[in-house]
Amino acid sequence: MQNSFYREIINDHNLRPMHKKEIEGANAEKRGVNPSCGDDITLKLRVKDGVIEDGGFTGDGCAISQASADIMLDMIIGKTEQEAERLSEIFRRMITGKVSDAEIGELEEAGALIDVSHMPARVKCAVLGWHTLDAIVQGENTEA
Ligand code: ZN
Repeated sequence: MQNSFYREIINDHNLRPMHKKEIEGANAEKRGVNPSCGDDITLKLRVKDGVIEDGGFTGDGCAISQASADIMLDMIIGKTEQEAERLSEIFRRMITGKVSDAEIGELEEAGALIDVSHMPARVKCAVLGWHTLDAIVQGENTEA
């Protein structure tokens, strides 16, 4: 039952992504590519005073990569870059099976991707959006 609930969340974000669009005034951008699956996204954020004010992605890929990027944006818009990085770190540990139940709760809908931890071939799909986010945040930090 839980599995079909998770599948529904992923399907919904894949078929009707809220954040798959260009955003106004983006000031940070990175492309993320996962050649093993063919996922190719560009993540754009508008960051002001360390807060992610808005974000969106464009590009294409499998259902898991698209849903994961969309869910991620749901979670990080309105948060500081540090908070987003912390969620990214928890997400990555979930995907590698090293996470507590409380932490899964913190991941909200992103917890729907926990089954990917049993699908090694899909791990790169699930982390692509988060990986691209890290590249943006860490790139900015080194500039500051
Ligand atoms: Zn993929």
